[in-house]
Amino acid sequence: MFKKNKKVLDIAGYGAAVLTQIAEPIKEINEEIITLSGKMIETMFAFDGIGLAAPQVSKSLQMFVLGIMVDDDKFYDNLKPDEVSLLKQMPVTFINPSIISSSEECKTKEEGCLSIYEVYGNVTRPEKIVFTAQLLSGENITLEATGLLSRALQHECDHLNGILYVDKMNEEDAAQIAKKLKKLKRNNKKSKFLRFFK
Ligand SMILES: [Zn+2]
Repeated sequence: MFKKNKKVLDIAGYGAAVLTQIAEPIKEINEEIITLSGKMIETMFAFDGIGLAAPQVSKSLQMFVLGIMVDDDKFYDNLKPDEVSLLKQMPVTFINPSIISSSEECKTKEEGCLSIYEVYGNVTRPEKIVFTAQLLSGENITLEATGLLSRALQHECDHLNGILYVDKMNEEDAAQIAKKLKKLKRNNKKSKFLRFFK
């Protein structure tokens, strides 16, 4: 039987209304936000995720955490100093984030989501974005992100606008996972703790 760590939050599964809502801006980075950030990081790592947005733990707030941890130094080749510095600080919490601009050049890659249990699909997204957010320290950052960082930031920003990666898939790919999604929705209605029975 899975024993639940107290710091690990329940994840809102596909079909939950909170995942389709536009999240509220955060007015002040107070104790509550700092505590939530810590719990979200614990939860993200407990489920081997690289990102988790507040709506996924049923908090409709403009905030997400990223934990892209890469040991391989080659990963950082060709990245700009700003990007490397942010990646090396991970896990990082982003408050009131937004995407200022996106490149015309797009790339298609497979994505998954902790709220969409064991379903994966191809999503086409802009390769580069200019992104801005506040960090938990209150510091404002603006940087150009590429590759995995760009994709992860876009996936998480979408969550704050009530959009899931499956909403962005092309019709053909979406049709292939439609049955799985239907089943997930049905199961998530029955038990919000489904995720713990892995
Ligand atoms: Zn997600």
